Amino acid sequence: MFDKILIANRGEIACRVIKTARRMGIKTVAVYSEADAGALHVEMADEAVAIGPAPSAQSYLVADRIVEACLKTGAQAVHPGYGFLSEKAEFCEKLKKAGITFIGPDVHAIGAMGDKIESKKLAKAAGVSTVPGYLGVIKDEAEAASIAREIGYPVMIKASAGGGGKGMRVAWNDAEARDGFRSASNEARSSFADDRVFIEKYIQEPRHIEIQVLADTHGNCVYLGERECSIQRRHQKVIEEAPSPFLDPQTRKAMGEQAVALAKAVQYRSAGTVEFIVGPDKSFYFLEMNTRLQVEHPVTEEVTGLDLVELMIRVAAGERLPFGQEDVKLNGWSIEARVYAEDPTRNFLPAIGRVTRYRPPAEGKRADGSRVRVDTGVYEGGEISMYYDPMIAKLITWGPDRATATRAMGEALDGFVIRGAGHNISFLAALMGLERFGEGRLSTNLIAEEFPDGFHGITPEADTLRRLLAVALMAERRVAERDAMISGQATGQLRRSLEGWVARTGGVNHPGSVMPVDGGADVRLDDRTMAVRTGWELGDLLWTGTVDGVPMTVQIERKGTRWVLFHGGAELSVQVLTPRAGDLAALMPVKLPPDMSKFLLSPMPGLLVSVVVAEGEEVKAGQELAVVEAMKMENILRAESDGRVKKVHAAKGASLAVDEKIIEFE
Ligand code: ADP
Ligand code: ADP
Ligand code: MG
Repeated sequence: MFDKILIANRGEIACRVIKTARRMGIKTVAVYSEADAGALHVEMADEAVAIGPAPSAQSYLVADRIVEACLKTGAQAVHPGYGFLSEKAEFCEKLKKAGITFIGPDVHAIGAMGDKIESKKLAKAAGVSTVPGYLGVIKDEAEAASIAREIGYPVMIKASAGGGGKGMRVAWNDAEARDGFRSASNEARSSFADDRVFIEKYIQEPRHIEIQVLADTHGNCVYLGERECSIQRRHQKVIEEAPSPFLDPQTRKAMGEQAVALAKAVQYRSAGTVEFIVGPDKSFYFLEMNTRLQVEHPVTEEVTGLDLVELMIRVAAGERLPFGQEDVKLNGWSIEARVYAEDPTRNFLPAIGRVTRYRPPAEGKRADGSRVRVDTGVYEGGEISMYYDPMIAKLITWGPDRATATRAMGEALDGFVIRGAGHNISFLAALMGLERFGEGRLSTNLIAEEFPDGFHGITPEADTLRRLLAVALMAERRVAERDAMISGQATGQLRRSLEGWVARTGGVNHPGSVMPVDGGADVRLDDRTMAVRTGWELGDLLWTGTVDGVPMTVQIERKGTRWVLFHGGAELSVQVLTPRAGDLAALMPVKLPPDMSKFLLSPMPGLLVSVVVAEGEEVKAGQELAVVEAMKMENILRAESDGRVKKVHAAKGASLAVDEKIIEFE
């Protein structure tokens, strides 16, 4: 076994690898860029080596720097995590030359699977079912249209070197095929410096289901069940789970055996993932193989009880797999939600910044038998940098069944406190609350279908609203009690709260009053009394307790004269007023926010690099409209829905304020 390994990555995955290595008694070396000098993975590792400036092209992606760091610290092996150098064959070559072990597959397997066209040919030869299509490089638009017609619409045009959901377009007719060829190859050229594209059949209403494989260097290879990753936004995974609610044991076995056949065909070693696209009739087709640890590997660990990082390290050290296929048992259900620093109500634009408060939910067992796990690379006071993937954490739950795991996820999201940077927790909570999610009726179109006009937050249903108002009233009572204890103040402070209040939200006054009792209060609201029980104290960000016996986790904060409550993905702003003030508030004119849905606004302060549509032009949802550069990054702004451009308000080169108008639609 190795004495010391280096982790050639950052963020949550670097931290996660370090944890396992430490448990195995292996010393760890972190590497870090200038932007990451104070990062969590640097603090967690036994040693750390600086490898260059913030941009990853000058640090985390420079293979020579990593090799140097190994030689300097005496690390015998490298775990690459995911992204960065994890699937770069040249990196493995360099390590090999320097006598350092790569904790991953052999360079040949990486090479063979790194290219989508080549890997499909290989899969076909290994007897794996592949998506019908044309496994050649398309040379121009005309050829794209003619091959697409031959395959039969709809088709998908894909970059052979693609990854991370980039460089792919769906086409339903010749015009879209020509257009899609152009944009897919452009995107491929700029993202992967390789513009080869190919075309395959687009599977409709598809699910993304992938098989985890694990192989040693002694010819043993097993599959560790599947993960369903159908909940995607723009072909990128948002929620993953294991097992899939769609697979029956026969299909699971058939997919598993094909995945193993493919792995064996390339003499695979280490952990790898064979991705399939699955049709509504359970027909399945090979998509690609990822020759690395996958972002969503924790759900497999939760249902198999295995530590994939440990097994990768053992296999790299030459050990045999300690179990066979018959020993692999799937137990219970696990779900993962990716928590990103992005604003779901602003078309998921990055919302990075310094994390002023960071309180992830407690890890470990819960009262109902479920478990919570948080894989994170962030700490309170740390910064989510613009240079890297804006992932904050992965929240993972396990339960004996899917419903329990889902409930645990909802409650863990309620209790996940992040301030300073923006985050997508409300969106994740909304997904967990979808009836369709509960029924397991998933497809890669789920997000687009459930949120056709984007995500605009959610409104709590009547019962939840009543409970949240009771929480706000009780909190206000605590403020009144505290105020009454301050000496030298005008009399009557506490009496104010006994006379009755109104809780005002959404322009509606709800009369209420609070009667403190042991362990909480009885709150009367709209002529109904609710038993509110909690250990909450003023200043706690998290309110946990029960309302009429229903357990609630609520994030609560006082902002000026308002209480802001967050629960179940909904944010609620409540004012607690005296009845007189409530009456007067109801008479105040309401300033309606102007309707901005007809405008494309600048999501951030920045430079307008280009406007690519003209006045009078028809635009389609998803179409590129303008490019804004901010903090050295180009952000492509796209149409949220179909429409026609009425007026272009800002010209190329303009310096934009946040929310400044760029384009007006009809
Ligand atoms: P997974 O399949 O493990 O869920 P993702 O597609 O989410 O992986 O990608 C994992 C990480 O690797 C992300 O940070 C993504 O940006 C990065 N990534 C994946 N493929 C590529 C690629 N071909 N080039 C650059 N980055 C990639
Ligand atoms: P990447 O390398 O970017 O991960 P993949 O080939 O794995 O690319 O595809 C990513 C996603 O795109 C899939 O999870 C699926 O949602 C969608 N997709 C890819 N190919 C097809 C197809 N032939 N039919 C339908 N959807 C597809
Ligand atoms: Mg993929």
